[in-house]
Amino acid sequence: MEYFLNELQKTVRETARTIAEERILPVRAELDEKEEFPWAIMKDIADTDLFRVFIPEEYEGLGGGCLELCLVVEELSRACPGVAVSYAGSLLGSFDILKYGSEQQKRKYLPDIASGQRLAAFAVTEAEAGSDIGDIKTTATRTGDGYLINGTKQFITNGGEADIYTVIVLTNKAKGVRGASALLVEKDTPGFSFGRKEKKMGIRTSATRELVFEDCLVPAENIIGREGMGFIMTLGLFDYTRPGIAAQAVGLAQGALEAATDYARERIQFGHPIISFQAIQHMLANMATDVEAARALVYAVARSIDGGGKGLSKESAMAKVFASDTAMRVTTDAVQILGGVGYMRDYPVEKMMRDAKIMQIYEGTNQVLRNVIAIELRKKRVR
Ligand SMILES: Cc1cc2nc3c(=O)[nH]c(=O)nc-3n(C[C@H](O)[C@H](O)[C@H](O)COP(=O)(O)OP(=O)(O)OC[C@H]3O[C@@H](n4cnc5c(N)ncnc54)[C@H](O)[C@@H]3O)c2cc1C
Repeated sequence: MEYFLNELQKTVRETARTIAEERILPVRAELDEKEEFPWAIMKDIADTDLFRVFIPEEYEGLGGGCLELCLVVEELSRACPGVAVSYAGSLLGSFDILKYGSEQQKRKYLPDIASGQRLAAFAVTEAEAGSDIGDIKTTATRTGDGYLINGTKQFITNGGEADIYTVIVLTNKAKGVRGASALLVEKDTPGFSFGRKEKKMGIRTSATRELVFEDCLVPAENIIGREGMGFIMTLGLFDYTRPGIAAQAVGLAQGALEAATDYARERIQFGHPIISFQAIQHMLANMATDVEAARALVYAVARSIDGGGKGLSKESAMAKVFASDTAMRVTTDAVQILGGVGYMRDYPVEKMMRDAKIMQIYEGTNQVLRNVIAIELRKKRVR
């Protein structure tokens, strides 16, 4: 379908597609098997300026927005969503600086993130605070020298690999969610270390790790925005980045649809290619329809965000829920179409089905996001 992309959008999509086909496809199975962080590909992405896409021009970026980011993530995910999330994690980690950071913070961090020299990460989740991020326990106590951070963050994408971390902490425990703030912590800060590295079902090339803070002192100027803004900023961040997860799901589902269609054309049973059987045709037709519907929704929400649309929590949640459920269904059906070989690691659809599951879980589980959608429906009359 023609989405009438502008020149920048077409360029970033083509660039990401080339990286996906030439650099990611040949090594994706090996990266998955070895659970190795894709540093060589991160360097290729940096060399082609794709980290610049979401950074404004005054900080050495290309000045793109949510749609440009979605196009890159979609193309990378068509080959490997684990690589794509390692790339997108840097946006997650830099968004609060972009939106609420001081001029000094922007000048200090954004050019390095834009060049891909330094990766970023975002940390709110803790062992006892997953969906309920309001229950975080990590504290940052104001001292004469800055903030002293204590606590442990769990399941952090790019943990251990990134250089710059946006960490949500309680600067005022008594105020609960109103006492949360965002602090910037650099990798080599004393008192900051990395704990357990998770062994995952899918997106195994990406790094998912604990961040451990033990009397970790950061300067007072590392606060992003003001004390007490941490949760408001996090909610705004997710409204912006959930279409990115949705784009990850669209790309993955597209890859699975292509793999299943190619196989169905080639595989002969009962003297015919299996694509000649109506049961297979209908599965493929449903898969293709769902992928296009998900893509259209993701692009529409991204365009609305870029156009300055306000109050898009519901739409952003819808895109993430619909696209990730689509990816789960489409990858499962792709395995079914490949039959026995679909279950084997020699074929890519086995990995795709494993990779799909996380998209229904992170950045708000699909249950919690349905709550978000329903809350909005309860508020207003639906048209
Ligand atoms: C690979 C990976 C990467 C991640 N990357 C990051 C990262 O970079 N930064 C970061 O901060 N976090 C990250 N996370 C954390 C992720 O966002 C959380 O895992 C997610 O929000 C769910 O929290 P939880 O795992 O504690 O599940 P829980 O909150 O314990 O949920 C368990 C189940 O209960 C359901 N549930 C919970 N509350 C409700 C409710 N109110 N209504 C209905 N159902 C409910 C959930 O839908 C789920 O099915 C990552 C997680 C993973 C697995």
